[in-house]
Amino acid sequence: MSKVELECSFCGRKKSETSLLIAGLDAHICDRCIVQAHGIVLEESKQGGKDALSADVMLKKPLEIKEFLDTYIIGQEHTKKVMSVAVYNHYKRLLQKQTNDDVEIQKSNIIMVGQTGTGKTLMAKTIARMLNVPLAIVDATVLTEAGYVGEDVESILTRLLQAADYNLERAEKGIVFIDEIDKIARKSDNPSITRDVSGEGVQQALLKLLEGTVVNVPPKGGRKHPDQKFIEVNTENILFIAGGAFDGIDRVISKRLNMQAVGYSASISDAKVDFTNLLQYITPKDLKDFGLIPEIIGRLPVLTHMDPLDSKTLRAILTEPKNAIIKQYEKLFSMDDVDFTITDGALDYIVEKAVEYKLGARGLRSLCEEILTDAMFELPSSDSKTLNVTKSYAEDKLTRTTLKKLKAVS
Ligand code: ADP
Repeated sequence: MSKVELECSFCGRKKSETSLLIAGLDAHICDRCIVQAHGIVLEESKQGGKDALSADVMLKKPLEIKEFLDTYIIGQEHTKKVMSVAVYNHYKRLLQKQTNDDVEIQKSNIIMVGQTGTGKTLMAKTIARMLNVPLAIVDATVLTEAGYVGEDVESILTRLLQAADYNLERAEKGIVFIDEIDKIARKSDNPSITRDVSGEGVQQALLKLLEGTVVNVPPKGGRKHPDQKFIEVNTENILFIAGGAFDGIDRVISKRLNMQAVGYSASISDAKVDFTNLLQYITPKDLKDFGLIPEIIGRLPVLTHMDPLDSKTLRAILTEPKNAIIKQYEKLFSMDDVDFTITDGALDYIVEKAVEYKLGARGLRSLCEEILTDAMFELPSSDSKTLNVTKSYAEDKLTRTTLKKLKAVS
């Protein structure tokens, strides 16, 4: 009986005509069909991804966006609400592009003003996570005008492309978080004295990007040079979120409120003004007085502020968010079968030290590290499988010198 030559169940090629024939349960597939099928899978997932973005996002109403933010970010109610609406509107705008009428919805780029460590980056990261879009975090301080030492503003888009694994379509719907936007404020009130390389010039260069334009981006970053290949990136649908501490802007605000930053003797508005959190009264004009040019302010139309973190918030940050610091340690210890617990007293103590040394939310992590390093070093190779951190344990680990060290780096 002659042996029947195996063939691909998809294209019918004989085994001898293929380089590879893979057997399944009762079928075979050749190398060519595999490649073709793989292409189809990629194409489908790209389509799926695209639809998923618009469908998923459009299904999420501002209230749901805020609920998502709530699981990661403690407090900052105002900003969470403002962000939810801005993001919702941003993606509504993307959808309306497909309709044809005269009303054009403008971009809802956002600017967040708040002290360092109050969760501005976390906010941008959480939104990007929720939308499943690429996020580039860039520092405005490294940007300079073209032709000067530093990075061109286009480098922002290089980062975004990298974050999107060079998938242009994904990058063009991504989010860019520009940190320390306050550091490119105009240094002087007089715009005409000298050219201000790292300040106003950069603001000017950012304008087009924020508004929506097609930019030639060097895919690997670096300076543009003539024989480099560029990728054309359209920034029209990229959501820009800017953040900054704007140190000293409280003086601008209080001046506007026509009172002194210090001293409670001023007569106006009386009891209604909360001096501990002047940022909540911020207006676009304050940003202008601080040194942002009006055009930039106009292109970041959603202005919001971050509240300073009080001890109650810091305490909640330790344990409540989805990936809270304490939960992370629990997970780390559980991987070594160590049952890790920490008392309320110890948690309060950590918060107390973070407040006392003005370490903010970032300090919580450093304090926990200091307290737990010995245990993390010893327990994996020890027989003891429980760790209960009490206040006195924490106090003991956190010696005076350690605290001094922490203060120095903060
Ligand atoms: P910023 O960008 O304002 O300087 P970050 O977003 O980098 O601050 O926050 C610093 C750290 O503090 C992050 O690890 C973040 O997880 C934590 N954090 C700050 N604010 C909050 C908050 N409101 N809720 C939860 N975690 C926070």
